[in-house]
Amino acid sequence: MAEPSQKCAYCGEVRALVRSHAIPDALFKDLKASRGGSLRQIHQDLGISTTSTSGYARLLCGECEARFNRLCDHDAISAIRQSVAANGAGTCPHQTLAHFICSVLWRALESSAKIYSGYRVPQEDRERIKDVVFERCQPFDMFSFEVAMLFDGQGELGAGQLSQAIAVPYWATTTIGEKKYSIHHFIVRGVFMAALSPRVLPSLADSRYLAPNGAGLPNSVRDIRTLSSFSKIAHLAKQKAKGVKY
Ligand SMILES: [Zn+2]
Repeated sequence: MAEPSQKCAYCGEVRALVRSHAIPDALFKDLKASRGGSLRQIHQDLGISTTSTSGYARLLCGECEARFNRLCDHDAISAIRQSVAANGAGTCPHQTLAHFICSVLWRALESSAKIYSGYRVPQEDRERIKDVVFERCQPFDMFSFEVAMLFDGQGELGAGQLSQAIAVPYWATTTIGEKKYSIHHFIVRGVFMAALSPRVLPSLADSRYLAPNGAGLPNSVRDIRTLSSFSKIAHLAKQKAKGVKY
């Protein structure tokens, strides 16, 4: 059945809208495939939930959806998959990863899908994310981007378990040096991705942050216990270890 035409959130044209995902559906499908077609599990900050939905909304026209897929999703997904497979660096220009991170955040903000309903951000951050997505500025003018492989410093959760984790975008504040930052983060297959505003000062920056002319996933790690969602992810992993169905 044809969908009634609505305004595309990106180009503003009234067109038939397609199913748009914030976190690409391909990454959810990976989890489904790795589980032999069983239900996917989404570990998220919003609370423990098990769902077979990857959270889509009719947000974009086919042309704009294809544009996002082509310009950022495709290469970012490949890099994430390479990292999961090799537990090491995948290849992707940092410009593309930065656009990918901002586009996931923007689509999550615009999406009516329930799994993204807990992602609420200050208005000024919303504008910053929009400015990048609508190409009114370069991503590195607005944000610093952190990409890291998650690990569990206490050794309870292995890389295999963490690669099952997908956490939807979440906004928090963090202190680096003596300064407070906005941090928008999400987790895809155990890879932590974040945009920080304002930009982290070069004197405080280290190799975990993307560089405008860099390529590849940074070879940096982040202890999962630094995340607000840690206790929920750990709880789910333990339930799974006990064979509890949820
Ligand atoms: Zn459009």
